Amino acid sequence: MIIQPKVRGFICTTAHPAGCARHIQEQIDHVRKGGPISGGPRKALVIGASTGYGLSSRIVAAFGGGAATIGVFFEKESNGAKTASAGWYNSVAFEQKARAAGLYAKSFNGDAYTDDIKARVVETIKKDWGKGSVDLVIYSLAAPRREHPRTGQVARSALKPIGRGYSNISIDLSNDQLETVTLPAATQEEIDQTVSVMGGEDWEFWIDALEREGLLAKGAVTVAYSYIGPELTRAVYRNGTIGKAKDHLEATAKKLDARFKKINGRALISVNKALVTQSSSAIPFIPLYFILLSKVMKSMGIEEGCIEQMDRLFRGFLYKGGGISVDKSGFIRLDDREMRAEVQKIVARNWDNLTNDNLKEFTDLEGYHKDFLKLFGFGLEGVDYNADVEPDQRLLSVSA
Ligand code: NAD
Repeated sequence: MIIQPKVRGFICTTAHPAGCARHIQEQIDHVRKGGPISGGPRKALVIGASTGYGLSSRIVAAFGGGAATIGVFFEKESNGAKTASAGWYNSVAFEQKARAAGLYAKSFNGDAYTDDIKARVVETIKKDWGKGSVDLVIYSLAAPRREHPRTGQVARSALKPIGRGYSNISIDLSNDQLETVTLPAATQEEIDQTVSVMGGEDWEFWIDALEREGLLAKGAVTVAYSYIGPELTRAVYRNGTIGKAKDHLEATAKKLDARFKKINGRALISVNKALVTQSSSAIPFIPLYFILLSKVMKSMGIEEGCIEQMDRLFRGFLYKGGGISVDKSGFIRLDDREMRAEVQKIVARNWDNLTNDNLKEFTDLEGYHKDFLKLFGFGLEGVDYNADVEPDQRLLSVSA
C-alpha cells in the first residue's frame, strides 16, 4: 500500500508504519545522546504508552534507564485495507527496537479502564517480573470516554468552560484562518463525566490492583501528567471541565503519595508543557495558543517536544538523586520554560494583535502542521513515501 496522509478535522485517518518507526528512532537517538540514566527505573508500567507523553516516557525508561517495560494503550490494528493507528505502529516499532536492544517489552492493547485489562497486566507482571518488582508507574491516559468498571456508566469528557459561555478567536486548521468560537458553559453532568474520564480514579484503581498483589517495589514512583497554562487558556482549560478533572488527578496524587510513603516511594504530578499531540489538538483554542507559544519559544531557543520534556523529567527530577524537586504545591514543573514571564508577555501581546494577515509572522503554523503530520508518521526524513509498504504490522506481544 502507498500511504498518504488523510487529514479530517483534527485527526489524520491514516498512519505510516515506516514513518512512525523513524519517529521512534529519532526519540531513541535523542535519549541515547544523554547517556544512561544512572539509578533509573528497572521495571516500568506505562498506561497510555503508544503516543504523546506516555510513549516518550516509555522510550526514556527503556533506552535511558535500561528498564523492562509493559505498555498499555488503545489503538487500532490494520485490517489490510486501512492502515493501523499511529500508536499501533509506534508500539510495533518500540517493541522491535527494545527487544533488539535486549530489553523486555510487552504490550496490552485494550481499554485501560476495565478490570479485565488490569487483571491481565497484573498476571503478566506476577509471572514475568515477580512480587515487589514494579518501580515506576506512569499514568498518561487521554481518552474521550470511560465506562466505569464498577457501575457500567459511560462517561464522556467535554472541553467546555464552567459557569458561563466563552468566546474568543481560535484557528481553523483546515484552512489556517482565524475564526471566532463560542463554547457554551458545561452542565454539572458534563463536569462530572469529564472528571470520571480524565480524573484520578482509574489511576488509583491501577495502583490498588498492583498493591493488592504486592507488585510494587520498595521506593516505587508513580507519576501522572497535568497542565496549568496561562490566563489566555484558563477559561477553557484550567477553569473548565478538563481543569476540574486535573484538580481530581492532583488530589489523587496527594492521596497516593501518602500510601507510597509507606513503601518509601512517591506519587507525583508532573505539570508538562503544552504540546501538539493527538489529544491536545482537539481542545478548542489550545492549538492557537500553542502556535503562538511555539513561535516565541523557538525564537528563544527553549522549545521542547515530548521526548525532550520526558528526558528532562527522568534525568532532572525522578532519577536525579537527592530527592525529587517540586514546587510549593508539590508538583514537578516541566512547564517552567513555557510559563516564563517574558514568554507569556509576548504570547499575550501577539494573541491580542493577531489577524489573518500577520498569522505567519506571529505563529509557528508551519511547524504545527509538520509536527501534526509527524504524529502519524508523515514528513520524516529518510522515509520513502512512494514505496509500497505493508500496513498490517504485528506487535510481538499483543494481548488484546
Ligand atoms: P495522547 O493522545 O498522545 O496519548 C494518549 C494515550 O492514552 C495513548 O497511548 C492512547 O492509546 C491511550 N488511551 C486512550 N484511551 C485509552 C483507553 N481507554 N485505554 C487504554 N489506553 C488509552 O495524549 P497526551 O497529550 O500525551 O496526554 C497524556 C497526558 O498528558 C494526559 O493526561 C494529558 O492531559 C497530559 N498533558 C498533555 C499536554 C499536552 O499539551 N499534550 C500537556 C500537559 C499534560
